[in-house]
Amino acid sequence: MTRDPRYDVLFQPVKIGPVTARNRFYQVPHCNGMGRSFPSSMAEMRRTKAEGGWAVICTEEIEIHPSGDHSPWAGGRLWDDSDIPVLAKMCEGIHEFGSLAGAEINHAGQMAANRYSRDVPLAPSHLPVALHDPVQARAMDHEDIRNLRRWHRDAALRAKKAGFDLVYVYAGHQLSTISHFLSPYRNRRSDEYGGSLENRTRLLREILADTKDAVGDTCAVALRFAVDELMGDLGFTSTGEGRDLIEMLAEEPDLWDVNISAWEHDSATSRFKAQGFQDDYVAFVKEVTSKPVVGVGRYTSPDAMVSLINKGRLDMIGAARPSIADPFLPRKIEEGRIEDIRECIGCNICVSGDNHFTPIRCTQNPTMGEEWRKGWHPERIAPRTADETVLIIGAGPAGLEAARALGQRGYHVTLADKAGEAGGRVTLERKLPGLAEWGRVADYRTYQISQMANVDFFPESAMTPDTIAEFDADHVAIATGARWTADGIGRQNPLGIDCADGAQVLTPDDVMTGTVPEGPVVVFDDDHFYMGGVIAEKLRRDGCDVTLVTPAGEVSSWTHNTLDQHAIQKQLLELGVRIITSHNLTAIRAGEADIGCVFTDAPRSISCETAVLVTMRRPVDDLWHARPALTRIGDALGPSTIAAAVYSGHRYARELGAPDEGNVPFRRELINLSPN
Ligand code: ADP
Ligand code: SF4
Repeated sequence: MTRDPRYDVLFQPVKIGPVTARNRFYQVPHCNGMGRSFPSSMAEMRRTKAEGGWAVICTEEIEIHPSGDHSPWAGGRLWDDSDIPVLAKMCEGIHEFGSLAGAEINHAGQMAANRYSRDVPLAPSHLPVALHDPVQARAMDHEDIRNLRRWHRDAALRAKKAGFDLVYVYAGHQLSTISHFLSPYRNRRSDEYGGSLENRTRLLREILADTKDAVGDTCAVALRFAVDELMGDLGFTSTGEGRDLIEMLAEEPDLWDVNISAWEHDSATSRFKAQGFQDDYVAFVKEVTSKPVVGVGRYTSPDAMVSLINKGRLDMIGAARPSIADPFLPRKIEEGRIEDIRECIGCNICVSGDNHFTPIRCTQNPTMGEEWRKGWHPERIAPRTADETVLIIGAGPAGLEAARALGQRGYHVTLADKAGEAGGRVTLERKLPGLAEWGRVADYRTYQISQMANVDFFPESAMTPDTIAEFDADHVAIATGARWTADGIGRQNPLGIDCADGAQVLTPDDVMTGTVPEGPVVVFDDDHFYMGGVIAEKLRRDGCDVTLVTPAGEVSSWTHNTLDQHAIQKQLLELGVRIITSHNLTAIRAGEADIGCVFTDAPRSISCETAVLVTMRRPVDDLWHARPALTRIGDALGPSTIAAAVYSGHRYARELGAPDEGNVPFRRELINLSPN
């Protein structure tokens, strides 16, 4: 197949200073939880994206000096020459496919607590560090500023030595000392580096010039800048100083990489922002510079990309998450296979890996982060080891992914589900407010399966031990999912919650399948991910009087890891959901619920006709109990995230026919003992 000519524009080369990108697909810097801690994994992940057609592939943040130490977050490091080989390996892989490698070198200043180096953090003015560590950053004097310029220059030279083609000056996300100097609220200096925009920009201008001088002969120098901080007059706005700064420095960098900040705004979830959500903020940039401009907005649609180029909004399509969900997105457009694109669902599970200092994972792409340690390629998979049949029961994320990957391997696959359509939990959850894009997990796989002659899907086919036996497949996987429990058993109440006769108790499954609660509703969230918050939101939007009770200090507290906790709590408050934090639900009676403070146990009662319990799920595993020799996958084995179910289905498909030798099931990156 060849590409549709209307996408030709996306494959035009773009000159960036002294280098040329082979097309307009640009993987902007993104964290991955691997960085310097799992360097082979990081390098292979980036290499895979080059193979998938991205013309520019950037690192995550690379620390340039111990005084800007982001430990324990595992980004890159270029403190001295001993750090070069890790990044050189990444560059080699990227160059193998003719792509360009970009290095986001950075001094994190007040954003870093220097937990490993124990240096005193640095900032334009005295301020506590942005993390909650009891540590302050000290105001930099002129010698510190000279040092910072030298560290940046040295790191740029090391990046060049490692093989990078682009070197960043990073002024985005409020994550860099340069951006802290720009900031009117962080920079309270009265010398030539503080006060007017001209003065606050001085350090950026100097470092830009230093970097061009150091490496600009062979490397492009990119400037990453957040044009709007979404803080109104307190910070940069795209109609105020954000625009002024770009006008001031318009022709200075070789490329503008523009976005909005902070990170939770730049990487907003699909629950709150649609594709293209940054367009209005960055649209002006191309009007004021002749240099190439790259911007992001969770673009997965090639038509939207073409429109941005043709309208003169951007020169290159920036992507972090779309390149994680589908490292082969450019190649699929180039080869005329756009229906094969595995579109990002905007859930930010990828971010959670970084926040936990563990390798990145992705809901849509189970191979993300596994390219090196398991040798999983996003597009290729070993052919079947035998001419065998596989029966998969349950077409949720786990069953669908197992069927898709086994079909790709060439097995004869039958996928059966008692429901009328494929999707499992996603069929219900995609109808919750803001979660429509999550349906892509099912849509992508349903389409792929529909194209495979060796995979048959049978809806409305409830399987029993007898029908399984009659089917006589060589392999059977049980992917029958899990159901929320109504007994209240969970983290806070291991023995469950007392419930009087006559009280209405529902689970999220009941609400999602249309049961309408009576009277005032209490949603008890002992789960802490999205479900409690989104059920409260749905019920409130349906007109219910809703109180959300949680033992945690905040609503949906785990969603800090997906960057949308603030947005979730704000939305619930604005919708009029009453929120009671740090309280347990101890009993449900007719018309009332008893709650208690998790610190003092102080009891109180609140009005409640219906309680919706969001505490835990139990596997639907009756088939397995009847036939324990069968294999369980996904939530039927251990209820977890949708990402974990997809991963489980994929792993089952990869490992079918491969003997389990009892070893650690992946390659490890071991730290060598230092020779001295
Ligand atoms: P997972 O997240 O592990 O993929 P889901 O709960 O999303 O699990 O999906 C499980 C699917 O299994 C649902 O679509 C459900 O209809 C189906 N299912 C459950 N029990 C049976 C059964 N006995 N026969 C066929 N399908 C079943
Ligand atoms: Fe997109 Fe979710 Fe994958 Fe991140 S984890 S790339 S948001 S699908």
